[in-house]
Amino acid sequence: MAKQNNNQPKSSAPKTAPKGRKPSAAGKNKATQKSKSQPKKKPESKELMQGISNSPAGQKQKRYYKNAAAAARKPAGKKRKKATPPLKIAFLGGLNEVGKNMTLYACNGDMLLVDCGLSFPDPEMFGIDLVIPDFTYVLENADKVKGILITHGHEDHIGGLAYLLKNLNIPVYSTRLTIGLIEGKLREHKILDRCDLHVIKPGDKVKLGCFETEFIHVNHSIPDAVALAIRSPAGLVVQTGDFKIDRTPIDGGVIDLARLSALGEEGVLCLLSDSTNAVKPGFTESERKVGETFDVQFRKAGNRRLIVATFASNIHRVQQIINVAEKLGRKVALSGRSLENVVSVAAELGYIRVPEGILIPLDSINRYPPEKLVLITTGSQGEPMSALYRMAFSEHRRVEICPNDYVIISATPIPGNEKMVGRVVDELLKLGAEVVYEKMYDVHVSGHACQEELKLMMSLVKPKFFMPVHGEQKHLQKHAGLALTMGIPKENILIADNGKEVEITQDKIRISGEVPAGKVFVDGIGVGDVGAVVLRDRTRLAQDGIIIIACTIEKETCTVVSGPDVVTRGFVYVRESEQLMEESRRLCESVLADCMYEHVRDFSEIRNRLRDEISHLTYNRTKRTPMILPIIMEV
Ligand SMILES: [Zn+2]
Ligand SMILES: [Zn+2]
Repeated sequence: MAKQNNNQPKSSAPKTAPKGRKPSAAGKNKATQKSKSQPKKKPESKELMQGISNSPAGQKQKRYYKNAAAAARKPAGKKRKKATPPLKIAFLGGLNEVGKNMTLYACNGDMLLVDCGLSFPDPEMFGIDLVIPDFTYVLENADKVKGILITHGHEDHIGGLAYLLKNLNIPVYSTRLTIGLIEGKLREHKILDRCDLHVIKPGDKVKLGCFETEFIHVNHSIPDAVALAIRSPAGLVVQTGDFKIDRTPIDGGVIDLARLSALGEEGVLCLLSDSTNAVKPGFTESERKVGETFDVQFRKAGNRRLIVATFASNIHRVQQIINVAEKLGRKVALSGRSLENVVSVAAELGYIRVPEGILIPLDSINRYPPEKLVLITTGSQGEPMSALYRMAFSEHRRVEICPNDYVIISATPIPGNEKMVGRVVDELLKLGAEVVYEKMYDVHVSGHACQEELKLMMSLVKPKFFMPVHGEQKHLQKHAGLALTMGIPKENILIADNGKEVEITQDKIRISGEVPAGKVFVDGIGVGDVGAVVLRDRTRLAQDGIIIIACTIEKETCTVVSGPDVVTRGFVYVRESEQLMEESRRLCESVLADCMYEHVRDFSEIRNRLRDEISHLTYNRTKRTPMILPIIMEV
């Protein structure tokens, strides 16, 4: 369960803030911030990277990598004895869960991070807004961490980044759209101007310490997603990030299979691959398929108003809705803040084509007849507070669902959300709308590779070692099984876990240690201040309520001057339990009387006795265990 996290982040902020870093690191950081005024030594920014293969040092290193990679493919030889340092990969999140992905690479004293996501709280995490990875290990090694690479702009990959950067100002590298989305978050956290962001293109290489990294274009349910090739003195690792193989993508082109295959030829020591859909056979359908379905469905809607719910970040989906709307002469309105944000960033950066005049403000929808409208909305997972949820429960201020509505839920419920989606669908149906959802038609395709694509990835990259990542245990195991069928020996496949550090050498992969990697809860502006204890209290309060016993004692004379009063919240309905309440009060009285008689003056002792007696009583009478809070005042 939850890990309490006290040593983090605010307390450690001064220690790891940019100015506090070791002189060398601080200097470098500053230089990469804005200008190119610092040519030598550490070519961290994109422009400087091009120079890498020309510099003698770069060349030398390159050859070195080649050797290492070639060696990696050979069976255990004898010559390599002096050999290369091992590569260590520590998982700070993303395994045995879908969410808060974060991976740390370490080699030769340098470290490199990949992604920094969040996950959403489980229903029993009362009051928690977000869950982010535990940064303890990263902050302990602040001086070694050279930068962070982000594969794409989904929350499970960027959602924790602002919290990390607040404590550790390292350079961030990602594609244009992803950086655009990150900027929005950093602006919200008011740290944008002190962050060091670098836009890269697929094909670019970035050198960070002893690592040379390369970005490779992949298909996914958000544009501008990349896989990573990470070269270290220990060898070459490919981390796919989230991907699918879309042979007819909406834009950006097909995943760069040629490059992946070239890396395979060069010799890949280890592959870390997306396991989300590893249990699904076949291929994932092309995103374009959804466009065809929209065309059919939109026509079927006839004169009715269209409402389409989808993930805010699925820009290709939004693009296809806009395309069909344009063709059929409908205007488009957006509902949901995250959707408006993403679409505005994507439009500004040219990732979405919005024809002049097609977007209308939500306020003005009533000026158009229903057959001239498409509303795109968030809430495809039935999230309470989302736009679709509020529409379904008649709580939306601007959109009222009526029998003349045709609603398409263009997403599949993420495991665990099925019930919520079901409730929303029910409510929409009650209001008379027609609802198309889940597998009724092809109104959704996944962004993740199915088995055949995963196998293709393995056959191109030809890794010596394999680690399935990004998935729950069943996904990871299935993916490991696929690797086995692809001829990767069992001892070369490793299923790791959050908090595990994996060591990879030329001839062995093994779990070599553990690192702190718990869950850090974000509640409002508090980060990590809600730990396991607080959460346990909240669970107990939510399940059985609270009993407060208040009294005032005069210590000198050992007399109870007022009370005891017994107040409850969320425990029993007081009016119907007067007898129990009276019984509790009398019990408190007698406990206090005993204490006074025995001259017990230690308040904590009195509190304990009250707590014990009352919890016995309530348990016997109700079989409930409310939280009991004795409050003793002294006069
Ligand atoms: Zn993703
Ligand atoms: Zn993901």
